[in-house]
Amino acid sequence: MRISRYFLPTERETPRDAALSSHKYLLRGGFISMLSAGIYDYLPLGKRVLDKIRSIVKDELDKAGCLEVSLGFVTPSELWQESGRYRKYGKELLRLKDRKEGNFVLGPTHEEVMVNLVRGRIGSYKQLPINLYQINLKFRDEARPRFGLLRGREFVMKDGYSFHATEEDMLREFHLMEEVYKRIFRRVGLDFRVVEADSGAIGGSGSKEFVVLTDAGEDTIVCCEACEYGANIEAAKRAKPVYEEAASAFNGLIETPEIKTIEELSGLLNLPKHKFIKAVAKKAIYDRGEKVCLFFLRGSDDLEETKALNSVSANELVDLSEDDLKRLGIAAGYIGIDFPPTPEVLCVVDNELKNEVDMIGGANRDGLHIGGVEVGENHVFADLIAVREGDICPRCGRRLAYRSGIEVGHIFQLGTRYSEPLNARFLDENGRTRPFIMGTYGIGVSRLIAAAVEFSHDEKGCVWKESIAPFLVYLIASNVREETQKSAAEAIYSQLLHEKIETIYDDRMAGFGAKMNDFELIGIPFGLIVGKNIEQGYVEIVIRKSAEKIKVGVKEAVDWIKNQMGKEEQ
Ligand code: ATP
Ligand code: MG
Repeated sequence: MRISRYFLPTERETPRDAALSSHKYLLRGGFISMLSAGIYDYLPLGKRVLDKIRSIVKDELDKAGCLEVSLGFVTPSELWQESGRYRKYGKELLRLKDRKEGNFVLGPTHEEVMVNLVRGRIGSYKQLPINLYQINLKFRDEARPRFGLLRGREFVMKDGYSFHATEEDMLREFHLMEEVYKRIFRRVGLDFRVVEADSGAIGGSGSKEFVVLTDAGEDTIVCCEACEYGANIEAAKRAKPVYEEAASAFNGLIETPEIKTIEELSGLLNLPKHKFIKAVAKKAIYDRGEKVCLFFLRGSDDLEETKALNSVSANELVDLSEDDLKRLGIAAGYIGIDFPPTPEVLCVVDNELKNEVDMIGGANRDGLHIGGVEVGENHVFADLIAVREGDICPRCGRRLAYRSGIEVGHIFQLGTRYSEPLNARFLDENGRTRPFIMGTYGIGVSRLIAAAVEFSHDEKGCVWKESIAPFLVYLIASNVREETQKSAAEAIYSQLLHEKIETIYDDRMAGFGAKMNDFELIGIPFGLIVGKNIEQGYVEIVIRKSAEKIKVGVKEAVDWIKNQMGKEEQ
């Protein structure tokens, strides 16, 4: 491809709102252009990277027996009503009407549509299992679209759905997909971790995320320093800490006027924070109505909102003010674990408090706490705590640490979460009808472009891995006005094309410096420079990643590159 004929509007200036390297270099390098917040156009260079990633994903999935389909993007709302997600999904779901007042949504994920495609068409266990996928546009009206392709509103996802007759078969496919995903991310050239995850709005049990570890990531991952354990903070577990003995010597009511926080209490009573039970009050929003939720945990712990949300199966949790609590007759700052739950007020106690004794908590009366609290077992218990750095690994007993990362893939054991409400059933071996048991598997295909740049760049621009680089060679004719240089570059260009080596040829009238800047900004693995040395029969090859420069005889140049191809370490 000749740059003189290409559409490559590179820019020197860093766009104002681009904080991350991937965002900055993809815009400046002429890969993408913003059309509207979270909506991007792909220029020829960006489209080439997108297609490369897409074809790696497709190749590995097809090899694993998955079948590619393409589903409607504009989806009738009825399907979403059938699954119960029409209300539950919230504002990320973009809803629209057609000219006949029909209600539609822009697909943010396609469980409903895929189940609809399969129901009635697959009727027997003999036709199972089947794994169908697409690589297509999604739309999520994200509250904060940002960081370019990392968190868009419109983005490209690979979404796959498998249908099974038994739980075991679904688990087999889930493990297979884990292996296939690992191969995909390795081929894309990324360093990643597979971590335990929360299942979010998609629903279902067991799920794993594939996370690229980079400082720019929005997700907090809890990793063990010693073993393989890793989990998203939303799902991370820890071994129960061993607390130093501190008998409280407080029994019965303790006067604590105006003392409402754990810090103040621990100072006043001279006891460590873990001796206290704190209450966090939230409002839970449901499809129909709202409830107050009181979450109880140790004074030394913090509430993990996603775990809290899951424990009360709500759509959303929002903060409650002291006034809100007062109106409900709840003593803010003094809420105790024996608060009587009602249909309007739910109480959930953290698992680690089960059967604890000699604790101090609120007395459910203004100005009073109570000592000698025994938690017992008669509560609703759930895991509520946010695991901290330095906590103990639940698998091996060593320390846990935080890392930041970018979620690039997510696989779920879905079960019958969608097949049941959508009434998608098959006949089993015994002639009984049963809902399909499903798995679902996603990859952020466009997010991978940004993740790859975050993972591999320097202060000059992108540094693409060969497997997804838009071109392999950036051929520079140093000065196209010099006939010797020009004709040598043209000859090498023909040779490269003949060898089917993907080459972008900088044949512009521009100066050498500008061409080198573009080569570095775009980040093509090899630069091949035809300059003054050509008179002595030499060209120069620049390796983008190491900036190493190698003088090679003009006749050997193409063979040299052919030799290097595929040698890149992952
Ligand atoms: P996140 O937690 O980042 O919002 P999610 O858990 O909602 O993502 P999934 O429903 O699991 O996402 O979607 C599958 C994959 O699609 C994700 O692993 C991610 O790589 C990608 N993805 C999700 N949302 C976006 C987005 N707004 N922009 C780009 N890619 C996205
Ligand atoms: Mg996810």
